[in-house]
Amino acid sequence: MWLDLRKIIETPGASLGFAVTLDPEQLRIGAIEGFKRPPEARGEVVNTAGLLNLRGELTAEMICVCDRCGTVFDRTKILRLDVPLAADVSDELSPEVFAVEGDGIDVSEVAETCFILDMEQKVLCRDDCKGLCPTCGKNLNEGPCRCTKAGDPRFAVLGSLLETPDDPTD
Ligand SMILES: [Zn+2]
Ligand SMILES: [Zn+2]
Repeated sequence: MWLDLRKIIETPGASLGFAVTLDPEQLRIGAIEGFKRPPEARGEVVNTAGLLNLRGELTAEMICVCDRCGTVFDRTKILRLDVPLAADVSDELSPEVFAVEGDGIDVSEVAETCFILDMEQKVLCRDDCKGLCPTCGKNLNEGPCRCTKAGDPRFAVLGSLLETPDDPTD
């Protein structure tokens, strides 16, 4: 969505609202399998003392694949947008600054770039996801498998901690 900034570009204090639906195909990156509905971004571009800032919120209802156990799960991401827009494009422009092209800016492109920069490549279904057993492939979030003790040495250590120690005096 092209936002014409001519009305506010010379007027400190002025602002211009926007609301845009983003193309899900552009945002299917990393662990994202798809979206429950197309992501949306809304907000405004504000002229603060001559400097333009795009502020708003991007909402994405994502369908993700867990990097550890492969489970498909839903996650809603609400990303706050607060990016400076620069009228003059110079080589020294930091990547977080978006250039105003002519008299406006492509709001969809700004929102999509912010989303991609913010999105982690790997996501987990939960912070403590136990993953799959490397030996039998069972999803260990659903319970232990039969081979945990013999398989991964990490589990062997865990197993010995969990076992009741043999009492030598017995
Ligand atoms: Zn998982
Ligand atoms: Zn196993």
